[in-house]
Amino acid sequence: MPDNEITFASLNLAQPLMRAIADAGYTKPTPVQAQAIPLVLAGGDLLAGAQTGTGKTAGFTLPILHLLSEKQAASKRHGCPRCLILVPTRELAAQVEESVQTYGKYLPLKSMVMFGGVNINPQIKALRGQVDILVATPGRLLDHAGQKTLDLSGVEILVLDEADRMLDMGFIRDIKKILALLPKQRQNLLFSATFSDEIKALSDGLLHNPGYVEVARRNSTVELISQSIHLVPQRLKSHLLAHLIKHNDWKQVLVFTRTKHGANRLTEKLIADGIPAAAIHGNKSQPARTKALAQFKDGSLPVLVATDIAARGLDIDQLPHVVNFELPNVPEDYVHRIGRTGRAGSSGSAISLVDKEELPFLRSIERLIKREIPVVEVDSFVPPANLPAEAPRPPRQAHGQRRNNGPRAEGRGNRQQPRGEGPRGNGQGQRNPQQREQQPHSRQQAAKPRSPDKSPEPNKAAEPQYMSEAARHQAMPQPALFSPKPVTRRGR
Ligand code: AMP
Repeated sequence: MPDNEITFASLNLAQPLMRAIADAGYTKPTPVQAQAIPLVLAGGDLLAGAQTGTGKTAGFTLPILHLLSEKQAASKRHGCPRCLILVPTRELAAQVEESVQTYGKYLPLKSMVMFGGVNINPQIKALRGQVDILVATPGRLLDHAGQKTLDLSGVEILVLDEADRMLDMGFIRDIKKILALLPKQRQNLLFSATFSDEIKALSDGLLHNPGYVEVARRNSTVELISQSIHLVPQRLKSHLLAHLIKHNDWKQVLVFTRTKHGANRLTEKLIADGIPAAAIHGNKSQPARTKALAQFKDGSLPVLVATDIAARGLDIDQLPHVVNFELPNVPEDYVHRIGRTGRAGSSGSAISLVDKEELPFLRSIERLIKREIPVVEVDSFVPPANLPAEAPRPPRQAHGQRRNNGPRAEGRGNRQQPRGEGPRGNGQGQRNPQQREQQPHSRQQAAKPRSPDKSPEPNKAAEPQYMSEAARHQAMPQPALFSPKPVTRRGR
């Protein structure tokens, strides 16, 4: 049957699940659900290519809830989950567990979410009760396994969600350690937005005769998203952004910065400009992140400034505006970022503020999405007078170098610190991956206004190719050239 003819009724899900689906207002399975649900219900392993926003969470949660509710647990021991869902970030963990609760609300199954950055004791207490489905980030899960507060010997179904991002964040060793703690006989589901060689190696070792599902990547749905570029020197970006927000009266905009330091600095500038904003990244406490996200979602906070890792997996529907304050080094991240807008069939706008130094990143992105993004000038923008000249910045690394030197590579696989050292083990879960994002070098630097930018782990061996301000200006369109209509690209 073609995907678009499959209905929830034809999937033969248990009645309590059908009621929950109706309550959620879903009328039709999404393509990933239509394909994945029958395969999971049949009990086989699954390899699925699907991103956040495709409905993938219900694609595995619904059939898992069905299977668990149909079959008695082999053991009724407490703290012994039957299904383990591993995810890369705390936000995604919270979201997935919320989905488990939403879809499983008419079933007697119990779920629990487990991640670092919060006190471990309430988790230990929860593990003393019934837990059928555990949604966890790898670091905190291993902490519990090490403390013997969690028994993984009853796991019947394992899900690796956003497996590519888990590998990017250096979780491969932890995943292997966790796999060693699971029973050999189990069903395995692996979801990934991309299929790198590492993902293939992981799936080859993990999955047995898997069913395969792949749904349209975001970069094939970008038609819904109006993308544009404003060419602007780095030092004018925060002024232009504040202008765009005020001038267009934007009520909800997600802004991506490359570093945590940059996110803080931009947030401070926007607030100073009278625009309520909050930053969300790995250095923020979990309550601060949860609060900022809740306010952003309910519309009381118009601007959320996020790093890629913190924003990964955030389920914010129908976001009208996404701004790339800096272009990402990795072109796929651009697609993930702009996928935050234009969701569920609604249109959205994705605007990138691009300094001349970022043009190589722009070219890689355009190659990936197979289209040229129009350059738009903003003629209503008048740059502030008497701005200090921009200090030279070290060059940013191209894609590929970062894997060895950049912030993602600060993941577990590259850790210098032996396990057990450092603050870990005090129950506060310091091993969360977001903390591996770019750190300000010192508190003073974090508080200072714009100084020479800190690229993630600048390649010390490379000779910085500084550009004089005059040369930069010659190559860049001048702010006076900004106008709201698409223009022919310059300087490329
Ligand atoms: P996910 O890709 O799992 O993060 O899901 C993205 C969004 O799609 C979530 O807000 C879900 O509530 C929503 N969603 C999931 N399945 C459906 C469906 N069949 N119909 C409409 N919305 C859905």
